Amino acid sequence: MSRFLSKNYEKLVPYTPGEQVNVKVIKLNTNESPFPPSPKVKEVLSEEVIDKLNLYSDPELKELRSAIAEQFGVTPDMVFCGNGSDDVLAFAIMGFCGAGGKLCCPEISYGFYPVYADIFGVELEQIPLKDDFSIDANNYIGKNKNIVIANPNAPTGLTLTFDEVEKIVASNPDNLVIMDEAYMAFCGESCMELVKKYDNLLVTRTFSKSHSLAGLRVGFGIGSKEIIDDLNKLKYSFNPYNLNTLSIKAAAAAIADNEYYDDKIAKIVVTREKTISQLRESGFVCTDSKANFIFASSNKITACDLAAELRKKGILVRYFNKAKIDNYLRITVGTDEEMQTLINAIKEITEA
Ligand code: PMP
Repeated sequence: MSRFLSKNYEKLVPYTPGEQVNVKVIKLNTNESPFPPSPKVKEVLSEEVIDKLNLYSDPELKELRSAIAEQFGVTPDMVFCGNGSDDVLAFAIMGFCGAGGKLCCPEISYGFYPVYADIFGVELEQIPLKDDFSIDANNYIGKNKNIVIANPNAPTGLTLTFDEVEKIVASNPDNLVIMDEAYMAFCGESCMELVKKYDNLLVTRTFSKSHSLAGLRVGFGIGSKEIIDDLNKLKYSFNPYNLNTLSIKAAAAAIADNEYYDDKIAKIVVTREKTISQLRESGFVCTDSKANFIFASSNKITACDLAAELRKKGILVRYFNKAKIDNYLRITVGTDEEMQTLINAIKEITEA
């Protein structure tokens, strides 16, 4: 630490991203898609667009917001875009819960929520999950605090139903409910249509998982025009050009290519179900994950040792050294071939 860091940030414990590597491995540690982005993405990144990079990007993000709005049947003024959905979550937690405000989230969930709460001075309540790792929706009814929930939750992959989400939103009319739907494309019961009914709901999504564009860094939030106006006010007070021109073009092209992505998402879902069955047959306990990852614990080897052994075989998975989940691995669903290699490697390790 230098002598110059503000006292406010001395004790900050930053979020730890999954490892990115340059060597060839089977990478099942950061929930990226194993498939390349839609070919439409390449088409729009033309020389003409590159030649115009001397100009600033559109701070209003008109092209992208319209493309997203069209997909979700809302108006562009209900869409806020960020540099990854992390950016959207950061603006929302800063703006709606910041400096002395209150927020609650599941105790086991996306690791960034406590970090944002910490950096923005938000009082955070972390609500335990049930023993089976599911979220008890009753814990969030009439909470009188802002709420952020990942649905499907990470790293468990378990979901709340549409009705449960609606009850949470309806019973907290004076607080913001952020539903983080980063992994929703892989299961289906989105609460997105509720943004037209409730003015206290913000639904966040990302291009990083279902749309094979983690490296592009684009995410978005959909909510009432008033919520989006507030987020824009914050953005214009912080970083008006938060998305670059290439990201705007590429993401707008991607979101319109349903045919391509529906196919890839369907493949990932089939591979997920197959892999979960294979793991269960080999004695693993797995949650019924509805995301593009599996949450699994072996009865033969500790999660920590298994992650280390898989690594030696060139397969990266995510191990969290955290109470209650330290015997589980979060394994991204790759291609069918990658998952078969994983299953074979696990057999070799556990039967050796
Ligand atoms: N929410 C959840 C639950 C996540 O797992 C992630 C990915 N780490 C994000 C949000 C952020 O994703 P991105 O910033 O790539 O959109």
